[in-house]
Amino acid sequence: MSERIAIYPGSFDPVTSGHLDIIRRSSKLFDKVIVVVMTNHKKQGLYTFSVDERVDLIKRCTKDLTNVSVDSYMGLLADYAKKQKAVAIIKGLRAVSDFENEFQQALINKKLNDEVETVFMAADSEHMFLSSSMIKQVCQLGGDISQFIPGEISKDIIEKLKKG
Ligand code: ADP
Repeated sequence: MSERIAIYPGSFDPVTSGHLDIIRRSSKLFDKVIVVVMTNHKKQGLYTFSVDERVDLIKRCTKDLTNVSVDSYMGLLADYAKKQKAVAIIKGLRAVSDFENEFQQALINKKLNDEVETVFMAADSEHMFLSSSMIKQVCQLGGDISQFIPGEISKDIIEKLKKG
């Protein structure tokens, strides 16, 4: 049987412990997981971290996961999934508020590429409240965010956010 590949898309601006939890759990379910930093050209300039920085941060905190790789893509997720021959798109759900938009995206992606299933994974209770934008705000207001981001990359994230 061929390898079962899943992709986990997001902006990861920056990656948080909540993202890393989803990556770890998916890596146990699939033969290979590709974390893909998506760039929306309309949002360019709104990201705090460049694509290369975001990719590098994810690579550094997933290096112990041998079946996880990291990539970036600008374009349609359904096309990327086809290109990688992915069987699944992983999405993390934190609250009901994530659901409506994610459900709509899942239906569109299914229409565009019916080879791929969207798999929703519930956030674990420890990470339910975490989002990249929340940690950016807290850090910029002087709060300690080290508990919300992977230890091996926390220094670099905090330095960059403090510089503004
Ligand atoms: P955000 O919504 O924080 O800006 P991204 O676009 O980078 O995050 O999110 C990528 C994916 O990770 C989405 O499927 C999102 O729902 C999921 N996700 C984000 N934060 C968490 C978390 N704390 N726990 C579980 N899943 C999460």
